[in-house]
Amino acid sequence: MNKLSMNTKEIELTAKWFTTVTNDLLLLLNQEGQIEYINPSFERAVQYSLSEIKNKSYLTLVHDQDREHTLEHMELLKKDQFIPFINRHKRKDGTYYRLHWVMAAISESGYTQAVARPIEYSNNDGKAISARTWYNSFYDYSGEAAHMFDLEGRVIAVNTAFEKLFGWTAEEMVGEILQIIPPDRQYEFDQAKEQVLNGSRIVNFQTFRMKKDGTVFPVSVTYSKICDDEGKIVALSAIVKDLTELVNTQKILEQQSEFMIEQEKLLHNISDNINEIVGLYDIQMGKYLYISPSYERVWGSDLQELYKDSNAIFDTIYAEDIHKARVFFQTPCDSAKELEYRIVTNSGEVKWMRTKMTPVKDNDGTVIRHLSISQDISTLKETEQLIKKSDKLGVVGQLAAGIAHEIRNPLTAVKGFLQLLNQETKTKYADIILTELERIEFIMNEFLMLAKPHEEMKMEEKSVTDVLKEVITFMSPEAILNQVEIITEFTDKPLMVICEEKQLKQVFINLIKNAIEAISSGGQIVVRTMIKSNGFICIEVEDNGVGISKERVERLGEPFYSSKEKGTGLGLMVSFKIIENHNGTVEISSEEGHGTTVKILLPIVK
Ligand code: ADP
Ligand code: MG
Repeated sequence: MNKLSMNTKEIELTAKWFTTVTNDLLLLLNQEGQIEYINPSFERAVQYSLSEIKNKSYLTLVHDQDREHTLEHMELLKKDQFIPFINRHKRKDGTYYRLHWVMAAISESGYTQAVARPIEYSNNDGKAISARTWYNSFYDYSGEAAHMFDLEGRVIAVNTAFEKLFGWTAEEMVGEILQIIPPDRQYEFDQAKEQVLNGSRIVNFQTFRMKKDGTVFPVSVTYSKICDDEGKIVALSAIVKDLTELVNTQKILEQQSEFMIEQEKLLHNISDNINEIVGLYDIQMGKYLYISPSYERVWGSDLQELYKDSNAIFDTIYAEDIHKARVFFQTPCDSAKELEYRIVTNSGEVKWMRTKMTPVKDNDGTVIRHLSISQDISTLKETEQLIKKSDKLGVVGQLAAGIAHEIRNPLTAVKGFLQLLNQETKTKYADIILTELERIEFIMNEFLMLAKPHEEMKMEEKSVTDVLKEVITFMSPEAILNQVEIITEFTDKPLMVICEEKQLKQVFINLIKNAIEAISSGGQIVVRTMIKSNGFICIEVEDNGVGISKERVERLGEPFYSSKEKGTGLGLMVSFKIIENHNGTVEISSEEGHGTTVKILLPIVK
């Protein structure tokens, strides 16, 4: 046998010796819960010797009020679970002694082994050793900052988690007034204390506490009372949960959702206020998920109709464009596409629209939605057409300058020789040839008018009324011949403009001539003048003739665009050019079968 090792007997003796000297209270119960053994510390604490209480049921030693939860803990022990707890024990002198059970287990043979420590709490001496023991053991089981204070607010005990959280050590705190209440929370704390003293428990009360360094932070506190043997409240215990992180997370979440709401608002603001119409169309549902309100502004039709039936849009599309619009809107697209088309608004106005469509795909790459942005491009189209027209005028003008001269010179010679020939031979065709030659000359002169540079014009201040009166007098015979009445509605105000009189006359002649030609037999032409508020005078030539179709109106002013057998298609083009040179504008509105109004605006001279 090894010299240094103990035999079983010796081990047993040593163990026994330990039980007699330790301050811990040791208890052994048999399977029936009767006391089998208590150590000397236990004997001292409860004032009974082992022989006096051996084989008595343990529970008879426990305070009536503590029996139930003691039993609960004993039941838990059978399931191998132990949770430290406190109960009160009867003493021989009739008083009670508080024990804090820190360890217990059931042996293989079914005996209950348990270790307890005494809690002796004295109101006069907050720094009692027992309180320290209490804090060391029980409180440290909890990861949360726990502390205990008497009714005056003096700290009896704090645990390690408390020291860590608040930055105070137990040595600094115990016996001192609790210094973790922020001044502005003192009243609230006093109230809470009052409530606990009146018997309520306060659980997870949200407030603020202060660290040693003065930092104030959010917490939740649970208060409970601690009673003495007679049931008198002698102290309060509190468990403090630090909410800093929770509050921070919440704040971030709040900020995040605020941010989202802001973003959403912003998006709505944008789509509600831009003139472009944004639409989101779901292919499967065959419905619009969103259409911006600007739709009503541009289309002039009800937004709800389109939500109800996405095909309602085709009712608004210009007849000629419906086919391409159907193809465009109804074929799912794989990549972005674009279409220009015309719509007729509720008020009958024709607008040019451009829609850009982009596919929206899901995670698998399947196109599930269409995002479309539509734009009113009417003004854009107008300028585009104007540019096209003036381009043509420009080219024609240049050509005209060259060709007109080249033709006019030989023409003069031809005319001269023809007249000479006529005198000599008296041919009957000479007159016809001469009229045709005059027509050629007329066309050439018109051409030259186009080509004439701006600077060469002799601009003078003239009364438009006078110019118009002269033209009408000059045109009257032709009007009468065609049974057309010319009515004048002139403003009394002087209408002075800077102009080249001859050119302006040319314009009025062209317009009145066209009007007469538009009236096949019997009709009226109204020539009106007025002053506009924007510094322009307005001259209107209105007829009740055949009118012009929509497509043709757009092409007016193009050279050689004539519907007449003997027409040149130059009159309007020349007129446009002249008015343009006078810094004015020409506007033609017409309704087929009802008549035409040509409106000329010229800047007034003050
Ligand atoms: P022309 O008179 O030689 O045909 P214009 O340039 O003067 O050439 O006119 C071009 C075309 O515009 C005409 O052929 C006609 O079809 C149309 N037009 C012009 N004025 C009128 C009008 N007042 N009413 C109907 N159609 C018109
Ligand atoms: Mg004409």
